[in-house]
Amino acid sequence: MSEKKNTLPRVAYFCMEYGLDNRFKAYAGGLGILAGDYMKGAKQYDYPIVGIGIKWKQGYTDQFIGEDGKPYDSYKNYDYDFMEDTGISVPVTIRGRNVQCKVWKLDAFDNAPLYLLDTDVPGNEDAWITGQLCGWFGEERIAQEMVLGVGGIRALRSLGIEVDTYHFNEGHALFAGFELMREKMEDGMTFEEAWKASREQIVFTTHTPVIQGNESHPVDRLIYMGANLGMKPSQLRRLAGDPFNMTVGALRLSRKSNAVAQLHGETANKMWAHIHGRSDIVAITNGIHRNTWVDSAMLDAAEKGGDLWEPHQKNKRALLELIKRKNGVKLDENKLLIGFARRSVPYKRSDLIFSDPDTIAPYLKDGKIQIVFSGRAHPLDDTGKAIAANLVRMSEEYPKAVVFLENYDMEIGAAITRGSDLWLNNPRRPKEASGTSGMKAAMNGVLNLSVLDGWWPEACDHGVNGWQLGDAFESEDVEEQDAHDLAALYKVLLEEVVPTYYENHKKWLEMMQASIQSTREAFSVKRMLEEYYELLYQQ
Ligand SMILES: *Cc1c(COP(=O)(O)O)cnc(C)c1O
Repeated sequence: MSEKKNTLPRVAYFCMEYGLDNRFKAYAGGLGILAGDYMKGAKQYDYPIVGIGIKWKQGYTDQFIGEDGKPYDSYKNYDYDFMEDTGISVPVTIRGRNVQCKVWKLDAFDNAPLYLLDTDVPGNEDAWITGQLCGWFGEERIAQEMVLGVGGIRALRSLGIEVDTYHFNEGHALFAGFELMREKMEDGMTFEEAWKASREQIVFTTHTPVIQGNESHPVDRLIYMGANLGMKPSQLRRLAGDPFNMTVGALRLSRKSNAVAQLHGETANKMWAHIHGRSDIVAITNGIHRNTWVDSAMLDAAEKGGDLWEPHQKNKRALLELIKRKNGVKLDENKLLIGFARRSVPYKRSDLIFSDPDTIAPYLKDGKIQIVFSGRAHPLDDTGKAIAANLVRMSEEYPKAVVFLENYDMEIGAAITRGSDLWLNNPRRPKEASGTSGMKAAMNGVLNLSVLDGWWPEACDHGVNGWQLGDAFESEDVEEQDAHDLAALYKVLLEEVVPTYYENHKKWLEMMQASIQSTREAFSVKRMLEEYYELLYQQ
């Protein structure tokens, strides 16, 4: 065993989803992609980390566009041949019934060992618990979180894996903290003592800068499900109120927390300022696993100061081929191509660019601007689906310039952040916690045009390594905010980006070089892991 592995704190990382490989359907979006990159970084840089997750039978939704131009969900059962049966199974009592959780091991994707819990085993009445990763509500959600948290700790014990620090990536893993407390109370500690001792072992990452995105449950429901593990209702209320807020619980049951970008650190501290007795929230900006997302030919060329255009055009052609194969549309490799791939939710404003057709239509009609979109909506989110349907309508209105790639996944994510010329990101500020897709783009020499949200304020040097739009303007008035940002988007896009692309090739190349060099280390998972150790894990 290496020196590092002998001396650093041993960490167990808990997360509901992992985006490790396109064949492994265990991620919905950014949270999972971060967790997947983290596990690969842990392996590459030799950290003593194991992961705990769930083996989802059907993963997240596969979302296809129907004949009517609207997204439809489809689920299928996945069997994997790249997982190892540990032979271990651990019990969790859920709603009064014994649920056996089978433990699989996965390390097939150059990742640190990941242990996955699975309730779909013969004899389980509740085999459905690990059916779908769709962020169910209410009792089903709690059942999934009990498998992850309680089952996860029991799996670690059964496997004989020793742990110094438990890292909860989002509040979903909070019941692991309850199990740590239960173990201590069983050994004779009081509730207070067990709380205090357990929080010394736990760190927590918060991701959601939108208050409604933070899950909560009535205390009665937690008791009914058995998630309290013997704790009294009054004790649960002390931890996180009633309704019981999972983020508040994690903030109070951890020694340290982190937000996922510097700006998000400020937002999160404001958002949770009223919570007494919570852990400090420090900011650790996300990073990406370069080998997964970045074309090594681009990195090499940038390193050597070589020609960036040829490797870039190669990546662009690969994206255009993917678009041709999936949608039958042939875009022009010599025209500006904007990439935009986001979860379909209103604050991301996927269709902002179409808001004033008089301004933008001429560019789309003559193909001077081409746009490739992708993004899935949550299966239960009709508003999100309407956004995707609108993008499909736009692709019909501008058939030679706009395409929508259905069923956004890691393959599309990689192709689109390599092969676009410009990466557009225009959420309503400050709602984007981090946004790792912009980092993928930046390191591939795909220039960012983004509002100053998430990670971008830390990297942006306007007109040097990309562009910002909107000057960090914020307004409570959504219409005012949108009008302001739309004007800013058109101004930068049409007066700076387009002329640079078509008329100042030399400057564009210099910006690509600056984009790669200014981000390749600063937003790598290596730097992120170093900060996790320095700011969260070391005591
Ligand atoms: C990178 C990636 C994400 C995360 O991107 P954001 O910038 O957070 O939107 C989500 N899904 C896929 C498939 C990705 O490749």
